[in-house]
Amino acid sequence: MTNVSAAQWSPNGGAMGQSDLTQSGAYGFGENVFSTAIQRQRLPTAAYKRLQETLDSGLALDPVLADAIATAMKEWAMERGCTHFTHWFQPLTGSTAEKHDSFYNPTGDGNALAEFSGKELIQGEPDASSFPTGGIRATFEARGYTAWDPSSPAFILENPNGALLCIPTAFASWTGEALDHKIPLLRSMDALSRSALRAVKLLGNEDARRIFTTIGPEQEYFLIDERYYFERPDLVTTGRTLFGAKPAKGHELDDHYFGSIPERVLAFMLDAEREMAKLGIPIKTRHNEVAPGQYEFAPVFENSNVGSDHQQLCMQILQNVARRYALICLLHEKPFAGVNGSGKHNNWSFGTDTGGNLLEPGDTPHENLQFLFFCTAVLAAVDSHQELLRASIASPGQDHRLGANEAPPAIISIFLGAELQKVYDAIESGSGDAATPSSYLKLGASVLPHLPMHGGDRNRTSPFAFTGNKFEFRALGSSMSCSFPNTVLNTIAAQAIDRLSDALEAQLEGGAELAEAVLAVVKEGYSEHKRIVFNGDGYSGDWHAEAVRRGLANLPQTPDALPALVSDGAVEVMSAYDVLSARELESRYEVCVEQYIAKLNIEGETTFSMAKTMLLPAAVRYLGELGAAGESAGLATIRAEVTGLVDEFVEAIGELESANTSHPVTDDVLDKAKYVQSTVVPAMSAVREVADHLERIVPDSLWPLPKYSEILFIK
Ligand code: ADP
Ligand code: MG
Repeated sequence: MTNVSAAQWSPNGGAMGQSDLTQSGAYGFGENVFSTAIQRQRLPTAAYKRLQETLDSGLALDPVLADAIATAMKEWAMERGCTHFTHWFQPLTGSTAEKHDSFYNPTGDGNALAEFSGKELIQGEPDASSFPTGGIRATFEARGYTAWDPSSPAFILENPNGALLCIPTAFASWTGEALDHKIPLLRSMDALSRSALRAVKLLGNEDARRIFTTIGPEQEYFLIDERYYFERPDLVTTGRTLFGAKPAKGHELDDHYFGSIPERVLAFMLDAEREMAKLGIPIKTRHNEVAPGQYEFAPVFENSNVGSDHQQLCMQILQNVARRYALICLLHEKPFAGVNGSGKHNNWSFGTDTGGNLLEPGDTPHENLQFLFFCTAVLAAVDSHQELLRASIASPGQDHRLGANEAPPAIISIFLGAELQKVYDAIESGSGDAATPSSYLKLGASVLPHLPMHGGDRNRTSPFAFTGNKFEFRALGSSMSCSFPNTVLNTIAAQAIDRLSDALEAQLEGGAELAEAVLAVVKEGYSEHKRIVFNGDGYSGDWHAEAVRRGLANLPQTPDALPALVSDGAVEVMSAYDVLSARELESRYEVCVEQYIAKLNIEGETTFSMAKTMLLPAAVRYLGELGAAGESAGLATIRAEVTGLVDEFVEAIGELESANTSHPVTDDVLDKAKYVQSTVVPAMSAVREVADHLERIVPDSLWPLPKYSEILFIK
């Protein structure tokens, strides 16, 4: 994708402005979105113009406008069958929240009138006392406000029995602190816009008025038949299987990846994509993934805010639509041990409101220079804040994946690809090889090689890869909201861009030519941060050793990673750019640690109860059958084996029970998390190990759980 249409950077998101899709009526694209086109039709001209101006400028909305917009929105929604509206927001649970209000108010004479005021559009006050806040909001000051985000279009969610108008909103405490994932993301987009605007001006671009960050998330997921799901309390309660022996057939045959899509699955995909299209979510690709039962889709990229909202909606739609086909969509990062897990590749870039992608190498020397400047800023940002970036993707589900030879390692590094590496090597040394002319610095930018698009990257082992005109942050978990990782990316990039701009300004003031100055800044930035660059195999043991030598952080598990959220470096960058205050970061840190503890405790309890009440009785029943089966040498051997396993099982279950019930008494949440990590998790694994062994021995007719071989292969 060489040139990006200006619409794709626009505040109302990507495909929203793409009239070809809308007009062709493809799937009724965008028909349930209060899009720019609908706003133009429905709003008085003056109001429409002022709304667009507000959106373009990124400034706050004039409350007077709100009544006009609310009326138009309500009429449009009611014509489409809506009876209720909701402020749709994203609390720190990582999912979305909604509380429905009817449009109808009783008039006192036995009738009711449909009403929806500007005030109701702009602000809501959900009874929000039980959302996680990490101590920001004690329940006695339980007020939380939702505030309309006009930069993400309102949309209608359909149900067989009605429809709901959803208004994307931000969620804040009454003291103005962010209690959600949207506010910091919006703030980070502003931060990056300010810094990158300053830089593009220095680089000679006077036209741009705003910079938009963009995301294109590639989503992986599993689909399984619902009958197996309901027979597995672990899947129902935790989203993953806590037991299950590896099937005889895995993905060794590589017959699933990009294979033909089973009919029921394709029917599901077409239906889900139609639902997404109605919501203006432009889905582009779909295919089978590596593991049996695993699939992926990706949308066309959009600005980070809309793209992130859409990503949340996509996850919801996948789960809802699956039910229509008697399927269950599993978004967990690791539903099946020993089988590939699911991630979310977060393609990320930023560009001007005039349509230029600033991470596009481009065809002209000027574009080359601009690209090198911003690319170097990304290297510097990721190197300087690798721990924070790692923390932004930490979750219990991820602990099964990262570093497990199927997902990027827990060490953050950047893959540049051979061509771009050559360019940096040449800039650094002042001399190049045949493909990269030797004297950049002397001759200036005009001899910079044309950087090839899509520089051949297929290095799946890198957590952060340059892929031609964007970076792909590959370490997100499949169930994760994109908001926070992108908030971090945008903010650390803003800081690095500013630092490079300072250096560039100094060079220019010293009398350097622009090209000479940029190359000097790029050279210095690259030399300082090149330890973050790694083009090799991220799965190899050698890399782990090498990363240690380079001083890169290796934070394998969530409790190791999360403290970086409140490190000095994190507090400094997030607060300097007005994205998250120290208190807001502290609250996020606490929420993440508490969620880690809570999720693993649920897993610990579920493992215990399934082992004790389902699996152990099955094994004991088998022992009983063996006991009644008479005498022979063979039977004696089997009996001895099963007896031994049952004894081991009883002991392991006992140990898990005591791990589950002897949590340390401490106020330090991290200590609690470390206890879970070091005691509950190994106790669960020990129980599972014996159970998986038993699964291979106990007769199928007695084993109470569906097995991987059924769950994964019956489509
Ligand atoms: P590849 O297959 O090489 O990864 P694609 O062009 O298919 O490349 O992109 C994969 C994802 O990256 C898609 O979701 C796409 O929309 C997204 N993407 C492409 N360009 C950008 C960009 N400038 N910013 C953010 N995401 C992008
Ligand atoms: Mg990709």
